[in-house]
Amino acid sequence: DATEISPKDIDQLARTSFPLCMRHMLEKVRHLKSYVHGLPLDQGAGLKLEDALTFWRSEFSQKVGSERFDKEYAYSIRHNYGKEGKRTDYTSYSCQKIISATPGVGDHHGCPYRHFGEENLRAALNNMGVGGNALEGILDKVKNRHYQLACTMTFEATHGVSCDTGINHPNQYFSESQKVLQ
Ligand code: SF4
Repeated sequence: DATEISPKDIDQLARTSFPLCMRHMLEKVRHLKSYVHGLPLDQGAGLKLEDALTFWRSEFSQKVGSERFDKEYAYSIRHNYGKEGKRTDYTSYSCQKIISATPGVGDHHGCPYRHFGEENLRAALNNMGVGGNALEGILDKVKNRHYQLACTMTFEATHGVSCDTGINHPNQYFSESQKVLQ
């Protein structure tokens, strides 16, 4: 399966194919503030539960120790994969749902186009290599509350192709990107 990814590939994939929301999540996960919300994309992309545990363990164990990781974090990760506790299909988090969510203080889910201030968004897009007219066009869409259009334009600017379907799901952004890059 071409979409199967291993933990070591995540950095590379994040650079080339993650939408802004997931890039942000991954960054924040590395600062140990939020971890469970980083999982939907992994799952959608075919990352296996055990691979995910290995990945998150390597991310966290330096900071919290592997014993504490297993006790406190592994449960949450399994939970997200529906192995324990309430079964929730996180892959159903469409852009619309993410955009309409209200992230609390210290939360890092949400859509950056909707939830970042202009300065942060500018910096994040610059970081993705988006500047000039493309950047201004995207910020213009954001001002008019067309967040998914802004994301679609970011996709187009970073991939050099047009995306006629538009972006409606973080996993779709990822798979469209992989289609272009493979
Ligand atoms: Fe993520 Fe969707 Fe927002 Fe793009 S529009 S950053 S894919 S939530």
